Amino acid sequence: AASARASARKGEPAQPLWVTHAPAKVNLDLRMRGLRPDGYHLLTTVLQSIALADTLTLRARPGPFGMACDTAGVPADARNLAWQGAAAMAAHLGVPLDGWELALEKHVPAAAGLGGGSADAAAAARLIASAAGRSLDAAELAEVIGPLGADVAFFAWGGTMRGEGVGDLLTPLPDVPGASVLLVRPPFGVSTSQAYGWFDETLNAERRTLNAERRTLKVEGRRPNAEGRTSSFGNDLEGPVSARHPEISAIVDRLRGAGAAHAGMSGSGSACFGLFEPAANLAALASGWPDGTRVWHTRLLSRSEYQSATAVR
Ligand code: ATP
Repeated sequence: AASARASARKGEPAQPLWVTHAPAKVNLDLRMRGLRPDGYHLLTTVLQSIALADTLTLRARPGPFGMACDTAGVPADARNLAWQGAAAMAAHLGVPLDGWELALEKHVPAAAGLGGGSADAAAAARLIASAAGRSLDAAELAEVIGPLGADVAFFAWGGTMRGEGVGDLLTPLPDVPGASVLLVRPPFGVSTSQAYGWFDETLNAERRTLNAERRTLKVEGRRPNAEGRTSSFGNDLEGPVSARHPEISAIVDRLRGAGAAHAGMSGSGSACFGLFEPAANLAALASGWPDGTRVWHTRLLSRSEYQSATAVR
């Protein structure tokens, strides 16, 4: 009950409070498959939860729904996917959105291909459902938030999933072995529409030699790491984005050179990641990057770890 969740300091009225986390994803693999008549790209991808997460808090507050965000450049209004997730859930449950305030603490960088906004949408929807005293299974949650964006439904389940269609047709995959993740975000972001636009330009420019181009793109993900091992994962957007931002290939090459079992760009970029043994010492990789680059040492989350991280408390 709300009163049991009270976060009262002495002498202050009890404030009902719900907290949850919104772990990000990386795309272990991403292959372009074609275009839908409406211009959306068809793809096959493997989505994977990581521990790096935003924190979302919902409190009762008289008045219209409001939201606060601690990060400049991220809108704290109806443009925010967290706001949209909350609104979609309230509409689904037939409860008012007014009377709540949502606070979003960003740890996941934006425009990075890590699905930060999509994860926040799912988290905000879970908060509203909890505050309304409802518990939903993942399938119902996915139905409510799925229309908010191609990646969003994934965050109803988390763990490792195959995405097809525009990334929204999801199949659970078995957990992959645990791994340390070094996440590197260059000083610039890449918007999803930019990355797909560059992919189309590359493809159009090379249309006559489509097969040759596909081979080149595939080779991207198959360069050996320091131990001479190659990964079967790859990202078809990495070549076109790297062509405009060579910093991306430089990051991926350094991660591979340091022995990553796999390294690549996540989604539409600009963040890149390397997968390492869980106990790998990654201290040397924390520094020596160009100015403005941000680095996180995080890890893969299994589906059950994702579910406990996203439980509403
Ligand atoms: P994806 O991997 O789904 O393409 P992304 O990591 O590239 O996502 P987001 O972090 O979702 O990108 O943010 C993309 C843009 O969406 C931001 O530049 C911002 O203006 C807007 N936005 C809306 N809601 C959020 C949110 N909750 N967090 C961050 N950005 C948001």
